Amino acid sequence: MGAMNDLSDPARGKALVLFSGGQDSSVCLAWALDRYAHVETVGFDYGQRHAVELQARQAVRARMIERFPAWAGRLGDDHMLDISSFGAVAESALTADRAIEMQANGLPSTFVPGRNLVFFVYAAALADRRGLKALVGGMCETDFSGYPDCRRETLDAMQAALNLGMAQDFTIETPLMWLTKAETWGLAATLGEKGGDGAALVDLIVAESHTCYAGDREHLHPWGYGCGTCPACELRAKGYEDWIAGGRAAVAIPESVAP
Ligand code: ZN
Repeated sequence: MGAMNDLSDPARGKALVLFSGGQDSSVCLAWALDRYAHVETVGFDYGQRHAVELQARQAVRARMIERFPAWAGRLGDDHMLDISSFGAVAESALTADRAIEMQANGLPSTFVPGRNLVFFVYAAALADRRGLKALVGGMCETDFSGYPDCRRETLDAMQAALNLGMAQDFTIETPLMWLTKAETWGLAATLGEKGGDGAALVDLIVAESHTCYAGDREHLHPWGYGCGTCPACELRAKGYEDWIAGGRAAVAIPESVAP
């Protein structure tokens, strides 16, 4: 492990989590609270159709420090950045009333070109100002959504570009990169156990995190609220069902994979 991952260095013990209030970024927030002495969160408002995501962010943060007192002293400020001009450029099914379908280029219509790259530029500029060194995101290569800006190869290049362009030594941490959706539930159980109550973190993610593209907060399923039929709900439901079918297997806490 290189010096960039030496968390005994106080400057390296501070993280910024890209936090949407969804299942993946909520598990990332727990991962960061377990690992770092100080954790801040950043969210992006790029003209989403659903304010429900923005409300979920506050609910997850509040419940996490309520249920896990050991983490309360570590959770710092929340930042909300308005990048609606990006949303206007990158109009897609997430930000406009277009059907969610497969496009001719093999990418789903929910793909917003360059979205994660934009997020990391803003996050890094904020982290520079706030003295935070780790940028934590819930990107994952194993969910078959095929988003090219979720690949670790892309994020390795992004980390290099940010460090060159900002004369910095950030790491981009992606603890979910190699996990299946079932394993992400298992990781939530492991992190919750370490934080003092395994069931509490899984329950919190079910009750408070929001993933559904349709913004449905009316229908509660064992895996959380959602319409149950959009691609995000299908992925979340299948992951949960696979985790239950696998006997709620615990998943080891991933170490840093940043170069
Ligand atoms: Zn849905």
